Formats: sequence, C-alpha cells, structure tokens
Amino acid sequence: MTLNALKWNTQFDQLGRDYSAVVDAQPLSNTRLLHFNHSLGTELGIKLTPENRAEILAQLSGEKAVTGQKFLAHVYSGHQFGQYVPQLGDGRAMLIGQIETRQNALWELQLKGAGQTPFSRFGDGRAVLRSSIREYLASEAMHGLGIPTTRALALFHSDEKIQRETIESGALIVRVAPSHIRFGSFEYFYYQHKHEKLKPLADYVIEHYFPQFSEEFTGPKFSGKADYAGWLQEVVKRTAELVASWQTVGFCHGVMNTDNMSILGLTLDYGPFGFIDGFNAKHICNHSDESGRYAYDQQPGVAYWNCSRLLQATLPLLSDKPDEAVERAQEILTTFEPTYTKALQSRWFAKLGLLETKDIDTVLVNDLLALMHGARADFTRTFRMLAEVKAKSEQPISLRDHFADVEGLDVWLFNYRERLVSESSDDDARKIRMNSVNPKFVLRNHLAQRAIELAQNDDASEIENLLSVLKAPFDEHPKFEHYAAEPTAEQQNIELSCSS
Ligand code: AMP
Ligand code: MG
Repeated sequence: MTLNALKWNTQFDQLGRDYSAVVDAQPLSNTRLLHFNHSLGTELGIKLTPENRAEILAQLSGEKAVTGQKFLAHVYSGHQFGQYVPQLGDGRAMLIGQIETRQNALWELQLKGAGQTPFSRFGDGRAVLRSSIREYLASEAMHGLGIPTTRALALFHSDEKIQRETIESGALIVRVAPSHIRFGSFEYFYYQHKHEKLKPLADYVIEHYFPQFSEEFTGPKFSGKADYAGWLQEVVKRTAELVASWQTVGFCHGVMNTDNMSILGLTLDYGPFGFIDGFNAKHICNHSDESGRYAYDQQPGVAYWNCSRLLQATLPLLSDKPDEAVERAQEILTTFEPTYTKALQSRWFAKLGLLETKDIDTVLVNDLLALMHGARADFTRTFRMLAEVKAKSEQPISLRDHFADVEGLDVWLFNYRERLVSESSDDDARKIRMNSVNPKFVLRNHLAQRAIELAQNDDASEIENLLSVLKAPFDEHPKFEHYAAEPTAEQQNIELSCSS
C-alpha cells in the first residue's frame, strides 16, 4: 500500500481559503530518512515496506503530494510575549493531509520545514536538524509520560545549509495531531473583525473533536448550532489540566504564546522547551525570554491569561449581546483555577504516594518544593527516590545526600512518614504506585544534545535508544541507567534560544 490507499479527508480544506492557504512544498537537497516512528505509523495505517518505502517517503518529505490532497498552511495570529501580532500562520509548516482512521476521527499529518508559505514573513520556511530532533524526541517523550501532545511520525535529514546563529543542516519533521488549530486561529478572525468566520471554525472543531457539544447532542443553542459555552469550558479545562501535568513533571514549554496553544489541549510547538534538572521554581528555559514571562512558576498564570485571550476572541459566539457575552466568558474563565488546583493537587499527592487527601498535604508538597528549590535538587530523581522512604523506619535514604539543608529535609521526612503512618501506607504497594507516576527518565537537554551530535553524521542510534526508553519512562531500563543520572553542571547549562 502507499499513502494514497489510506482514507483521506478534505474537511479542513473545505472550510475554504479564509482558514488556510494552498502552498507548494519545496523539497530539500538530498533528503534522507533519519527516523520513522513505526508504532505511530501502525496506528495511522502507515507501514513501510521495501516496496512502498520510496513512494511513502517522497510523500512524507514533500516531494510529492498525496493524491487528492493539497499542501495547506493554516491561518492564525496570536499574542506573542503579551503583544498581539496580527498575522502569523504556518510559516514553515504545511498540512500534508487528513487521515480518517475511524468514522469521523481525523489525524492531520503536518510537514515542518518544507519551505516558505504566504505566512513566512522574514523566515526561510526551514527547520534545522537540532530543533527537529528535539521536537521529535519531546513529542514521543511527552506521549510516554501520558501527557497530551502532538506526535511525531518521521524525521528527515538533508544537505541543505540553513543560517541560524551558525550554519546548520536543514531537516524535516512530520508531526501528527488530530488538529493543529490553535487559540490564535480564533484570534485572527476576531481581531480582523471577521466575526462571521468564527462560527464555521468553531463548528468544524466541535463537529470533529468535541462532538459532545454539537447540536446533535445538545440540541440547538445560541447562534444556531453548538453549545459554544460548554465547548469553551472544556478547552479551558483541558488547558488547565495540561499545565498541571507539565508542572508535575518539571516541564517548561518556553514559548507559551497563544499561537502555540492547542485548541485540543495538546502540548504544541516544541522550541526551547526543557525538563528541569536541578529544581528552580523560576527556571527559564528560553534564554531569549529575559523577563522570565514563561518561567516554570509562571506557566499556570500564563495558561489562564491565554484562555482569557481565547474567550475574548470567541465572545461573538457566546451571545449577540456584548454584556451577556462578557458575563458568560468570565463565568467560563472562573473554572480555570479550581480545575487547575484540583488537577495539580491530585498529581502531587499521587507523586507522594498518598491515598487519601488531607488539608495538610498541600503544605507537605509546598515544603518539599521549597527544599528542592533551595538545594536545586534534581526534580525527576528526587521524586523517584522518595519511593524508597519506609513509613516506619528512619533508615537514611539516598535523597539526603542531595540536600544542603539536611535538617530541613529530615523534618520534612519526619512529617511525611507521620502522614504515611496516618493512612497505614504499605511501603511496597506505595513504591509501585509512586514509580508508576514518577518517571525515572525524562528528555534532559543534554541527552537530546548527544542525539543531535550523532545525527549530524546521520547516526540515529541515540535517537533510537532514547525513544526506546522515553516511551516507557516509568520502567527500569538497566541498559540505559546512565540516562537517569544526575547531569553535571555543564550538562545542565546548555543554552536554548527561540531560533529553530
Ligand atoms: P514559533 O516561535 O515556532 O511558534 O513560530 C512563530 C511564527 O513564526 C509562526 O508563524 C511560524 O510559522 C513562524 N516561523 C518560525 N520560524 C520560521 C521560519 N524559519 N520560516 C518561516 N516562518 C517561521
Ligand atoms: Mg508556533
């Protein structure tokens, strides 16, 4: 079979040219496959064989369109670092097409780095190998952690030379998501005063991805069709839960602009992201983010603000009467905080292996985070090591070696043990529970860096090794124990910029 044999759908194309532009892919020189995600391929019905390989790779790398599909660049705008930018859009990404895997279930295949589009502004439409590998690995690492994310199907290297801070080699990534529509996709029409264009886009999103809010399920609501308020509340909920899951694995997105916020609540657009090594609540992973707008501890507030931007942009869907629309939007926005807090707490409590929830637990979590921050204790390793604690024995655990304030840690451990005893916590059962929510392996920057260095010579072995571990990050992988080691100071200090 080739890609042509899959069931393709043109629903997004049919929305019309207000929502996307038809573009041409500009293939790179000597494009070659560096990695293919066979398990995701299987989910999508794409299986590489010696017979179909050349044809499929030509279609995935932009050399050839899939029959009946056009390359499309999405239209959007967004707030970047707090400022509204009227026209962004896919400047270097293009839709290859939409696969229909089940009745009404769509998957967009999107090619990133295949050349300029009408939205490229001053950009070259390309993506460098470094950032493409980082996105490829991060997507699958997040998926392995059970955190909603866009996925990555294929990674290509090329001989194209790309100018960034230095000259780098050009690459392509095929990313996959049910939809790549963003908050900014709605903002574009709101700020262009094309409010009548909001409804078709919202209806499209609801019909395909949130059918529970469509007319079919709810009966006709305001302005003709779906339950827009219910849908937006669900988007707010998913966004709040997404950020709660980021906070509890120590993930920093790096560029939480509204054009990088998925309407489906997925982690979208991996640029200067990072998993925190030594915990610093103020960690900034993007060295161009001088004010720390997107620092780790700012992410929940930014997500809330981004939701408020989405609600502003969708006011015309909530009511014809401006006052009423604002009131509804505010009501929806108030659901962010309790949803976030609930999601966050349940994740922290699970990370501590607690079964019941008590008021004191929030203090316990915050005290631990403060100690970790003070010691710059490794985020991932600290939680993993906590599983060694025995409720009724004060035997020293390896964690103590990592905290300068050992006394503080001992007080905390005393309180923690007391708390465990109060719910008759079973040490062995708790350890199993904790190890299923506290990953042993995350995509540390220096691990990605090593994979990038080898890939520059077309050696994908480290990409393969990392993926094999990161797709099951809660399991032990004795052969790859070194991936879980504490990074050296030098390894922790890799600088990342927006340039990609
Ligand atoms: P990002 O910071 O990657 O989310 O990108 C922000 C905007 O800049 C989006 O509209 C991108 O499509 C566009 N963009 C980023 N890099 C490039 C590039 N090399 N060429 C063209 N457009 C780009
Ligand atoms: Mg982006």
